[in-house]
Amino acid sequence: MNSRNIFKYVFSNIKSVHARSFGSKPDFTKNTFNIERGFYNYLQEPHLKYFQQLLGEQRVVTDLSDLEKYNVDWFLQMRGSSGIVLKPKTTEEVSKILEFCNTNKLAVCPQGGNTSVCGGSIPIFDEVIVSMELMNQIINIDENSGAITCQAGVVLETLDNAVADKNLIVPLDLGAKGSCQIGGNVATNAGGIRLLRYGSLHGSILGLEIVKANGSVLNLLKSLRKDNSGFHLKNLFIGSEGTLGIITKVVVQCAPRPKSRLVSFLGLQNYDKVLKTFKKARSELAEILSAVEVMDDKTIQFGQEFCNVTSPIGDYPYYLLIEVAGSNEEHDNDKFHSFLDSALKENFVLNGTIAAEPQKIQSIWAVREKIPEGFRKCGWAGMYDFSLPLKNFFTMVEDTESFLKKRVESVFGFGHLGDGNLHLNVITKHYDERVKKIVDGFVTKRVLELGGSVSAEHGLGFLKSRYLPVVNSPESFHLMKDLKKLLDPNRILNPYKLFP
Ligand SMILES: Cc1cc2nc3c(=O)[nH]c(=O)nc-3n(C[C@H](O)[C@H](O)[C@H](O)COP(=O)(O)OP(=O)(O)OC[C@H]3O[C@@H](n4cnc5c(N)ncnc54)[C@H](O)[C@@H]3O)c2cc1C
Repeated sequence: MNSRNIFKYVFSNIKSVHARSFGSKPDFTKNTFNIERGFYNYLQEPHLKYFQQLLGEQRVVTDLSDLEKYNVDWFLQMRGSSGIVLKPKTTEEVSKILEFCNTNKLAVCPQGGNTSVCGGSIPIFDEVIVSMELMNQIINIDENSGAITCQAGVVLETLDNAVADKNLIVPLDLGAKGSCQIGGNVATNAGGIRLLRYGSLHGSILGLEIVKANGSVLNLLKSLRKDNSGFHLKNLFIGSEGTLGIITKVVVQCAPRPKSRLVSFLGLQNYDKVLKTFKKARSELAEILSAVEVMDDKTIQFGQEFCNVTSPIGDYPYYLLIEVAGSNEEHDNDKFHSFLDSALKENFVLNGTIAAEPQKIQSIWAVREKIPEGFRKCGWAGMYDFSLPLKNFFTMVEDTESFLKKRVESVFGFGHLGDGNLHLNVITKHYDERVKKIVDGFVTKRVLELGGSVSAEHGLGFLKSRYLPVVNSPESFHLMKDLKKLLDPNRILNPYKLFP
């Protein structure tokens, strides 16, 4: 299918989009999108009694006010109407829950930290929410190999703090680290700010334990780095967005914790200089390069207006945040300073600041990491997560801006330059369905024309599920459907997500 046809397909398949203003309580997603409930049973008294007997009344939430936080997402763009949240503590409990739901045809929404950007973690109708928040035990830390085994509900930051004592680092880091869970990270195949350094979760997740839809437990809990004895089944569940099974345990390969860390915030004249600086950083900083984030001037203006952050170096058309981390402070310091000096001399960079103290490092990172908070406060934000060839990274932003002209308040781009992952954002004062459709249609067509992907790291969830058959070949889409049928024949797991 060429990009023009894809545009037509996507455009004609948007029935309606979320009618809400950011900052206010979202409308019920089922109404906004006008979708039909699947043929699932409704929760009844005997079901509730079973869950209460299994978990005890404390771990079965049915009180309306307590349910709210599980029915609304972090970005305030989705709202479900589930009447029950279950909080298992063990794999056996998850297994019994799923076996019961499968037998009784009750739909299930697995939920981690509920920080999904595309509505993956929110029920659409009255699905039973299985919250993983009490499955938060760290089971084993192997100091020799760096492999750690834990339950899936451990919050990413808690996990990283726990291994810090052992001089290890979890090879994944993202702005939502204080809320998102390792199981949710695996389920979304999260990327984050250090993918450049440590690679994707397909490499650093060594093993998983999964409960399948029928309640059977699939033990893939290996902690070997090399294992070619059959299909790599764990990879099937990395990025499966809760549609193939509930992840209950995870084995993560941690890396040695860097002993030194330095961060610089640089101002640049144009995108050509951004690319030149990035190339230079890759070649001169090599093994100590840890993160490269890019922002344009409008990102910083948005940050000033909605997130209480400001550029520490004044105003420039583009900004780079470069982090290095290594094992020898003097060596890393020399290397970084020599790189920065020559980048300034060669006129790649106009200005910059460098931080070595933890507090200053944190305040520089805050300029970048606080931006998503603004999306909950501004009028309305269209948030897109694209992969793009680096040469087309900001072409996407410029083209979107010139296409939309005065129809919107602002178009800006930031993201993980090191991985070619652009977060393109379109801001309007108020939600306007017509404008949203125009934006969706344009950016989808353009990103594919520019050789990109409609989802780099956030997944498809509910809001982007329509893309699954469009951006995959018919053969791969059918294989995905076959796998879903095999693992979840009653389609109880996370319905309305990933598959349109
Ligand atoms: C401020 C902010 C910054 C962010 N930055 C990044 C970033 O840099 N990179 C990035 O990739 N993402 C980012 N995200 C998105 C989000 O944090 C990630 O997608 C994260 O991995 C979701 O984890 P979670 O525990 O919150 O999962 P949830 O949001 O609860 O769930 C996400 C999906 O996974 C499923 N799921 C959750 N737990 C399980 C489980 N145990 N078993 C099976 N399925 C499960 C859910 O059903 C859902 O489909 C950001 C979000 C915010 C709010």
